[in-house]
Parts: sequence; C-alpha cells; structure tokens
Amino acid sequence: MQPRAHAPSETPDMSVTEFRYSRIPAEAEALRPTVRAFLADALAERTPLQRADSWMGFDAAFSRRLGARGWLGLSLPKRYGGHEMSPFARYVIIEELLAAGAPVSAHWIADRQSAPLILRYGTETQREQYLPAIARGECYFCIGMSEPNSGSDLASIKSRAKPDGAGGWVLNGQKVWTTNAHGSHYMIALVRTGENPKSRHDGMSQFIIDLKAPGVTVRPITDLTGHQHFNEVYFDEVKLGPDALVGTEGGGWEQVTAELAFERSGPERFLSSIALLQTLIDAVGQQPDALQAKEIGRLVARLTTLRQMSLAVTAQLAAGANPAWAASCVKDLGAVFEQEIPELAQLLIDAPPSVDGGSWHSQVLAYLTQMAPSFSLRGGTREILRGIIARGLGLR
Ligand SMILES: Cc1cc2nc3c(=O)[nH]c(=O)nc-3n(C[C@H](O)[C@H](O)[C@H](O)COP(=O)(O)OP(=O)(O)OC[C@H]3O[C@@H](n4cnc5c(N)ncnc54)[C@H](O)[C@@H]3O)c2cc1C
Repeated sequence: MQPRAHAPSETPDMSVTEFRYSRIPAEAEALRPTVRAFLADALAERTPLQRADSWMGFDAAFSRRLGARGWLGLSLPKRYGGHEMSPFARYVIIEELLAAGAPVSAHWIADRQSAPLILRYGTETQREQYLPAIARGECYFCIGMSEPNSGSDLASIKSRAKPDGAGGWVLNGQKVWTTNAHGSHYMIALVRTGENPKSRHDGMSQFIIDLKAPGVTVRPITDLTGHQHFNEVYFDEVKLGPDALVGTEGGGWEQVTAELAFERSGPERFLSSIALLQTLIDAVGQQPDALQAKEIGRLVARLTTLRQMSLAVTAQLAAGANPAWAASCVKDLGAVFEQEIPELAQLLIDAPPSVDGGSWHSQVLAYLTQMAPSFSLRGGTREILRGIIARGLGLR
C-alpha cells in the first residue's frame, strides 16, 4: 500500500544536513515512569507469547484504558478530545507500549494515521464525529489501500466510487490484506473517482467507509501463524453520503503520500518484535559466551542507531516537514533488523522454534520466525522503499 511513483509531496522539505541528532524533550520523557508503572500492573498476567503479539494484539478494553489515561490522540487539539502534546510524547508512550508487549492493535491505525489524516484533510463535522472517539480508544480504523494486483503500484487500483446524483457516491470494488478490518468500525479507502489520461495519480479519492454498511463484506485471511489479522473486503453497491469524502475529490494520491509518512516513521518499525530480543537476552542469561555477547551487542547497537534515526524523523514531523524518504530509511533498516533477529536467535540459543509446546523461548521464536517475512511487505516493500530513498537522495 505504498505509492511507487513520485508524488510532489515526497520531495524532501529538509536537506540531509538538517536530518540531525534529536533528543526527546524533558516534558515528554517525564511521562515514561508513569506509563511504565501502569503497564507493569496492567500487563502482569500477559505471557511472553502474548507479548510477542503486541503490535497485532487486539484488545479493545485495553485501548479504552489507554484512552481514559489520556494516552491516545496525544497531539490532537483539545477541542477534539486530544491533549495538544508533541509527537515526542506519543513516541515515549508507544516505545513503552511496544517494549512491554502491550496489545495495541485495536487503536493503532486510528491513533497513528487516521486521526492526523482527518485532522488535516477532514471537514469540521468529520473531526467532531471521529477524533474524540479515537482519543477515547473507542473508534478503530483500518487502511484500504491494497487491492488484488495493486499493492506497490497503488495507482492501478480499480475500486470505484461513482456520484449517486444526490451529492453522495456508490462504491464497488475490493480491498485485500486489510489489517483489522474485522475488528474496526471504519476504513479509510483510496478509490477511483475519475481519470486523467495525462496523470494516473489524479482521479483517486479517500472515503471513510462504515464497515457495517449494507454491501460491505469482510472476509478474514488466515496468516502463516494461523491467526486472522488481515482480510479481504468487498464493496457491492455501497452507498456513501456526501460526508464520506475525506479531503479533495481527486486529491487522494497526495493525501495518501502524506499519510504514509506517519505509517512508516514510528518506532514500531524496529520494536514490533522486540519481545524476541528480550527473549534472546533472557535465554542467554547472565554468562554469555563470546559469540552471544558479540551478536547481542551488535543488535543493541543497531537498535540504538535505529531509535536515533526514528527520533530524527519524529523531529521532522514535529516541525511540520514531510520526512517521506527519511521515514522510508527507518522502515527499511528496521525491517532488515527485525528479520535478522529470529535467524540470530536460532544461532545463539538452544531453543528450536516450536509452534505448539516447548519452552516459551521456542514458542516466541517460532511465532516471530513465521511473522518475519511480512516485516518487509507491510507498509511498503523493501524495493519500493529503496526507490523512494534513492529519489530522496537525488539518485533517480
Ligand atoms: C502483514 C501485512 C499487513 C498489511 N496490511 C495492509 C493494510 O492494512 N492495508 C493495505 O492496504 N495493505 C496492507 N498490506 C498490503 C501491503 O501493503 C502489500 O502487500 C504491499 O504493498 C505489496 O503489495 P503486493 O502484495 O501487491 O505485492 P507487489 O506489489 O505485487 O510486489 C511483489 C514484489 O515485487 C516487488 N516490486 C513491485 N514493484 C516493483 C518495482 N517497481 N520495482 C522493484 N520491485 C518491485 C515488490 O517489492 C515485491 O517484492 C499488508 C501486508 C502485510 C504483509
């Protein structure tokens, strides 16, 4: 679900020299002990395997608890239920959530990208309708970009909304790989509303779709681990009101490009399987041999570097810049890092992966070994990200 072609807003607004060292401001850092203490209590019963499922773990009650604590919708304006805090405050909270293996999946997409998108492009009515509920942890969104035969080449999507003659629209088509469509209230879908023979990136629009609306069918897809995280979603003559359009009719490509910077920039891109690194360190114990010490040291050094890069991207977002290519760097390097951990773990510890039984080291390893191939697909494939990076560096 990532645009391949170069949209104007992908042009880096900041030069390479401005991609500088960033620290978490003290007021954001001050949140950390409270969040950590809350999680230690709230997640006390969570097993290592459940913690490994953190980013995929769907728990609406937990999301509502986070909302009640004021830890969702952090940078939204207060008049929409937000807390007007910096992106760094959100960064601290999600670092703690992921490091603890909290089940964050229910609210994740809404909090990370649907809310900023609606805030930026939505109407006042849409902001008032959706943003407070997102900040309360009660309203969940999914992303409807990919379609059969339209993943990397997103401009080839075929789902289409036609005007109904009364100010609304009628939608037909299909989305695929839609994470959490089965547990979400709404999808923000990119669909065709027109054509421009001179530019295939024109004529796409974004709509908020109520997933309970007549004509919407959600069919779960079972992944390699046997779980159902993503889905096929079919639209058959789905009626959309005039208030379903987000932003400008025909301006969907630019909006999606801006949205993807939020999707690719966060620490989830190298912390989504942090449970395995913790499992590895735990299994190695206090007396590592030379190889174990060297390899774990290398992993931790890379993690630290990735964190620094991700913070620099957060600083760009906080400054209102569009860090599209820098976010792609973090996402690509983060995926490589996360994919290497299961391989290294198999080399370093005597805990053969086991899906049913065995030590929890074996089970966590099995689960994340099965998940790892998806890390360089979800949110944009490696080849596509590297194309964006090359373009950002002026190499193509
Ligand atoms: C766990 C997971 C969750 C997902 N969740 C969502 C979601 O919530 N919403 C959503 O819309 N989508 C979602 N996706 C879909 C994801 O965005 C797509 O799988 C991804 O964009 C790739 O598209 P594709 O599968 O059609 O593969 P293709 O685009 O067909 O790519 C196949 C291969 O060809 C390579 N390739 C394609 N074009 C080029 C090129 N121009 N140059 C070089 N190489 C190229 C790709 O890098 C890849 O290796 C999810 C995917 C996964 C794995």
